[in-house]
Amino acid sequence: MAPASALLLAIAVSLLAWRAGALGRSGALAAAGIGLLVLTTTGWPGGLVLMAFFLPSSAVSRLWPGRAPAIDAKGDRRDAWQVLANGGFPALALTLGGPGALLAFAAGLTAAAADTWATAVGAHSASPPRHIFRGEVVPAGTSGGMTPLGTGGALVGAALVAVSALPLVGWRGAVGALLIGMGGMLLDSALGASVQGRFHCDRCGLSSERRMHRCGQATRSVGGIPWLSNDGVNALASLAATAAGWAAS
Ligand SMILES: [Zn+2]
Repeated sequence: MAPASALLLAIAVSLLAWRAGALGRSGALAAAGIGLLVLTTTGWPGGLVLMAFFLPSSAVSRLWPGRAPAIDAKGDRRDAWQVLANGGFPALALTLGGPGALLAFAAGLTAAAADTWATAVGAHSASPPRHIFRGEVVPAGTSGGMTPLGTGGALVGAALVAVSALPLVGWRGAVGALLIGMGGMLLDSALGASVQGRFHCDRCGLSSERRMHRCGQATRSVGGIPWLSNDGVNALASLAATAAGWAAS
């Protein structure tokens, strides 16, 4: 797509997403940049994959809100870090070009969809999540906690993106992206359960994923790598899925 049309379209869609409350201001800027890269390199087929990730993922978390998680997470509006953690590496793969770029792009976004859907759909689970390694029940919203419902949701979200990538990568590529995407979601949970920073708010007596609790009290580090946030874990899982897609093509 011509750069001027790509820029206009990327800005228009990002503005709409910001107006709809799906993206914050920085998130809309980052999304416009990613949209521009994707549209100038792949045109409509890549734009379709972006939309197959972004629209259903935003809709499922906003139109069908689950119970508020016991663990505090970021708000509904995605900021630039969240957008880049999900779409940065897939877009980078496209700009690098080469034979692996298209499957790398598709696999990275399929993983992002799987993870987003696992969280959003899993929030509706009647049974509490269980720790990915230890199998014990953990509070809803805990990183590394999994539910069968969330895993089923991940499969639906991943399948939507994989199917949308058919014009780019064909049947074999779409199946590969689906498998890599589900693997990326599992890796995300595994990293969330092991190396992601874990904190505790002594004022509220609650677990937290942040250095500052929502009550305004600074939290205490109780495990994992303190500077490795949920966004950082998402970025690592996205990088792994994008690289796996590159290697698999
Ligand atoms: Zn607190």
